[in-house]
Amino acid sequence: MSRFKTNELEVDILPQKRKSRGRAKGSAGRKAVVQCSGCGKMVPRDKAKRVTRYTTMVDPMIGRELRQQGAYIPRTKEIKTYCINCAVHRKVTRVRSKDDRKSR
Ligand SMILES: [Zn+2]
Repeated sequence: MSRFKTNELEVDILPQKRKSRGRAKGSAGRKAVVQCSGCGKMVPRDKAKRVTRYTTMVDPMIGRELRQQGAYIPRTKEIKTYCINCAVHRKVTRVRSKDDRKSR
């Protein structure tokens, strides 16, 4: 625990690993929940990790050649929402060291 001084008043504040407590909530109360695409767990929207990926049915090697010749290759947008456990497991985010966590 660390001591924190505000206007002559000394308050004990609990240590926290991250300034945002791992969320983008701020002073807001409850946030809407979304379902994780990996495990199906319900997670707060501001805590979940969103990944947008564009996928095509065409093989990337053939696709590159076709694009050079001016062909249009359709692609689909794929949005996935992951809980923290799934995001770390799928390497969307990584566990960062104490000093690393400070950088935004
Ligand atoms: Zn999950």
